[in-house]
Amino acid sequence: MLIDTHCHLNFSAFKDDIGDVIKRTIDGGMRVINVGSQNTTSERAVKLAKEYPGKLFAAVALHPIHLHSTFVDEDEVAIPFQTRAEEFDPDFYGKLAQEKETVAIGECGLDYFHVPQDVDEQSFKKKQKEVFLEHIELAEKHHLPMILHCRSMKSDPAAAYMELLDVLQHTGFTRGVLHCFSSTLNVAKAFINAGFMVSFTGIVTFPNAKEVHEAAKWIPLDRLMVETDAPYLAPQQVRGKRNEPLYVRYIAEKVAELKGVPLEDVEKQTTENAERFFGLE
Ligand SMILES: [Zn+2]
Repeated sequence: MLIDTHCHLNFSAFKDDIGDVIKRTIDGGMRVINVGSQNTTSERAVKLAKEYPGKLFAAVALHPIHLHSTFVDEDEVAIPFQTRAEEFDPDFYGKLAQEKETVAIGECGLDYFHVPQDVDEQSFKKKQKEVFLEHIELAEKHHLPMILHCRSMKSDPAAAYMELLDVLQHTGFTRGVLHCFSSTLNVAKAFINAGFMVSFTGIVTFPNAKEVHEAAKWIPLDRLMVETDAPYLAPQQVRGKRNEPLYVRYIAEKVAELKGVPLEDVEKQTTENAERFFGLE
């Protein structure tokens, strides 16, 4: 009865067989939160949630990589793509946030990994922080939790995380989950000690992700959630394939193995955490 707390069935990678994917997800007893990254995908996340009430839910936001036009090409991304630049419109996202199917503001945060072309470092970081603050206001106004995205530059792996935490702590907002955890144990400790949740993707199943393993061992089970981030980041067992919600099982299994607890405990506790955090019935 797992909940995939972060995936993107609203993305074009699923456009040809979305009905089949949703059917086998629901048949598998699962619930899913589809996460928006810009206006079109946020709108689509809400639309899908309305079609499958109680099974699919939505999160809406403008992802930091969509503030500027950026070329995204990585190992774990199935198809390289050019992002479309979008100005954050609080009224547009505010309307989506009012829908009862919307259970979070996200994904938003800081991304210093994908550096936009033709923009200097200071100004793109400044803009990301300003837009992130607007998302925090939106979450407060609509009494919603936040799904936090964060990625640092390779040269300074903790920097973006600590800056994100700094912005959050200045506002006093703590109802957030640091999604797709891929940083160090110290960063995990900083977020947990500040009151946040942390969630794990297929990265935790990768044999060389030693720091992520350490974090999963350390984080208390009542502060941890699981997600696929599908179509990206397929777990080790299905690496290279398009990811989908059913594969969240591999992530729960790995967390159970790392913590030395039964799989049922991880399933039960992470589901309760997600229900509480997102206010699901
Ligand atoms: Zn995502």
